[in-house]
Amino acid sequence: MFRVCDFCGANLDPGERCDCEKVDVEWARTSYRQAKDPEEQVKILADLYLVSKETIKKVLGDLYGTVQKQKRISKKENNAEKRARLQALLISDIACGMTVREAAEHRGVPYNIASNYTREFRKELKKVKVRHDLLEELA
Ligand SMILES: [Zn+2]
Repeated sequence: MFRVCDFCGANLDPGERCDCEKVDVEWARTSYRQAKDPEEQVKILADLYLVSKETIKKVLGDLYGTVQKQKRISKKENNAEKRARLQALLISDIACGMTVREAAEHRGVPYNIASNYTREFRKELKKVKVRHDLLEELA
């Protein structure tokens, strides 16, 4: 005859204490919810409480599987984003009639960087124009 743990539903021998009792349930659930990588967190919790991953999954209950792995935003992507935003701001300043130097000052960017960004943008515009011309030719 075995019994079933009231809390997690694991099968136990008579008198056997369930592994889930070792787990700080609230803490486990919170840390799982906040984990960058939930699957990895199950493993970490299992190691931490010296229980099986199955026990952790049982403790997590309905919560298990509902937390999605967060997309890692790498530093590189982050910088590219910042750069693109700054470039857009500079271009909009210039579009509003500022010189490159004024826009650089306005956004607190060194002139040579602002100049690089606008040059880049001009190149992109040229590419678009070429494509536009091609389209006209094809029409
Ligand atoms: Zn249990």
